[in-house]
Amino acid sequence: MSMNRRSFIKLVGAGAGVMSWPSISSASDILPRTGRRVVVVGGGSGGAIVAKYLRIADPSIEVLLIESDKRYIACPLSNLVLAGVRTLEENTLTLDKMAAKHGVKLLYDTVTAVDAGAKKVICSAGAISYDKLVLSPGIDYRFEEIEGYNPATTPEIMPHAWKAGPQTLLLKRQLMDMMDGGVVVVTIPQAPFRCPPGPYERINMIALYLKRHKPKSKIIVWDANENIVAKAGLFRKGWTKYYGYDDKDSTKGMIAYHGNSKLTKVDAKAMAVDNGTELLKGDVINVIPPQRAGIIAQKASVVGPDKKWCSVDQVSFESTQVKDIHVIGDACFAGALPKSTYAANSEAKVCALNIAQTLNGKELIAPSHVNVCYSYITDKEAVSVSGIYIEKEGKTIAVPNAGGLSPDLNEIEASYARSWMQNVMSEMST
Ligand SMILES: Cc1cc2nc3c(=O)[nH]c(=O)nc-3n(C[C@H](O)[C@H](O)[C@H](O)COP(=O)(O)OP(=O)(O)OC[C@H]3O[C@@H](n4cnc5c(N)ncnc54)[C@H](O)[C@@H]3O)c2cc1C
Repeated sequence: MSMNRRSFIKLVGAGAGVMSWPSISSASDILPRTGRRVVVVGGGSGGAIVAKYLRIADPSIEVLLIESDKRYIACPLSNLVLAGVRTLEENTLTLDKMAAKHGVKLLYDTVTAVDAGAKKVICSAGAISYDKLVLSPGIDYRFEEIEGYNPATTPEIMPHAWKAGPQTLLLKRQLMDMMDGGVVVVTIPQAPFRCPPGPYERINMIALYLKRHKPKSKIIVWDANENIVAKAGLFRKGWTKYYGYDDKDSTKGMIAYHGNSKLTKVDAKAMAVDNGTELLKGDVINVIPPQRAGIIAQKASVVGPDKKWCSVDQVSFESTQVKDIHVIGDACFAGALPKSTYAANSEAKVCALNIAQTLNGKELIAPSHVNVCYSYITDKEAVSVSGIYIEKEGKTIAVPNAGGLSPDLNEIEASYARSWMQNVMSEMST
């Protein structure tokens, strides 16, 4: 069912050859309509699932999934690549099989504009109309908030590795090239950001690698938040147990953690970071930048006044700003739900069901969601936090006393994490 650009244009006929148009609204639709059409932009954790479940909910709905990349590299467990205990290939999947099986039309292309008035998206293949549009574009970065940060060059020197792929491998390479006794700096932005426990799991995996290969080295963490954002007690317990962490004396152990320490400036040439009061040099510097909704959400004018995230109705995931555009995954603000693959997957299913309900003139169904976030402490032990969420008076809230933290660090949590990852990747790709 997948189409490359050439076969897509061929498929839609000669009309598609007319590639210049005065505006999106007057551009003719390059894909002949077969009925009610939902276009999904982004085939990641949220997008692949919403496309698949729309077809499951109602096979009479035409679903077109547009994704930039032919191979999707999932972020969960990508921190393990840094410690050399997992490969990026194990995190990689393709969407073709899933699309063919469920009758999802798949186009590998990048959507560059949305005309909400004309209900069309535009990509290099041309303009495509929709009845409903779902955006699941993930994140973009607020680089401009860091003085001295050049988006074109700084990530090549101070990798963020906050989208799994070449950046992950670059950070790994830098760790491997660093001398024993070197300093690794990790900077964490103010929440909310993609994967609240992710930066702290990253610290564990860097520490695991250094403990095994470069034990004289140090990791200095600057966290813009007052404290570790998720599972704080369990992370500190893990750092103390395995990496000699001492809460009261940051000179001891491998990890020195500083809360309320917000990165304000970088000097890539000098390999230095600045938090307004201190200048810190590092041999490897992992700057995780502050984030916002993916670029296409900004272009579609569904990003809120804070210019960060998209406000949505928490039952249908329809934008509160633009009718018939739904936003799921990291790009949206989904109440108490975190920005995670687990949550994106759940939002996608709710969104698919409620779009099918709407297109069939039926009432929306109030959702409940589950989220579990696993974090590895070593290659063998992990911890988790879970929650159940419901919609109450228009807001997604965590159900009190449902879910909670894993009681301790243990091997069972690590095996749950691996099995969850296998399931989620299989659900996206088949
Ligand atoms: C280091 C790390 C560890 C993590 N660990 C976990 C974990 O253990 N558990 C967990 O639940 N979550 C984890 N996450 C979070 C998880 O990766 C994200 O929350 C999740 O991927 C969000 O899904 P999404 O659909 O919003 O975005 P994505 O999965 O990023 O998908 C977005 C897709 O949209 C495509 N796209 C964007 N713009 C366009 C466009 N204009 N046209 C066409 N295609 C476009 C992109 O190519 C991409 O494939 C982790 C994240 C990181 C960084």
